[in-house]
Amino acid sequence: MRPAVFIDRDGTINEQRGYINHISQFVLLPGVGKAISLLNKNNHTVVLTSNQSGVARGYFPIQLVKEIHELMAQNLAKDNAHIDRIYFCPHHPDGVVPEYSRKCDCRKPNTGFIKKAKAELDIEMETSYVIGDRLLDIEFAHNANLPGILVLTGYGKGELKYSMPHKSITPVYVAKDLLSAVKWILEQE
Ligand SMILES: [Mg+2]
Ligand SMILES: [Zn+2]
Repeated sequence: MRPAVFIDRDGTINEQRGYINHISQFVLLPGVGKAISLLNKNNHTVVLTSNQSGVARGYFPIQLVKEIHELMAQNLAKDNAHIDRIYFCPHHPDGVVPEYSRKCDCRKPNTGFIKKAKAELDIEMETSYVIGDRLLDIEFAHNANLPGILVLTGYGKGELKYSMPHKSITPVYVAKDLLSAVKWILEQE
């Protein structure tokens, strides 16, 4: 059994640019390759967990999400880094594409992805973490009984300043970026 780190995509791994509706909008944030390679080397299972409701909303096809994940894998490989499993939610209850327009249990902060990971991967939940740039990610962590780390990339700074004060759920740690979050996790062991 290995600990897992459940990592958000937009704003955590790549630059926050609203909906990533074209491959040209996918730009990796600095230090991300190094961060993920550190997790790989230290025997953590890296799981991407991403809401991509733009698919249900008809903003872009599901194929684009897959193309972006291929590009992401190529970019990460330059730093000898890899993501072990990708889960993304293409759904939204108010979408326009019938196939994907529904309530689901995989849209964060629902915990479908964590349940799926538990069933499919050999994960030691007691030492696992969630990392993301939105309070939604911290709620996702909370709902799954995992510690959540907020990164200050993407929406992180605004979430910390304007949204967090109104919430009772708090992150276990606030990190400058993914690399700082990963270093902090490795220091806890
Ligand atoms: Mg995000
Ligand atoms: Zn879903």
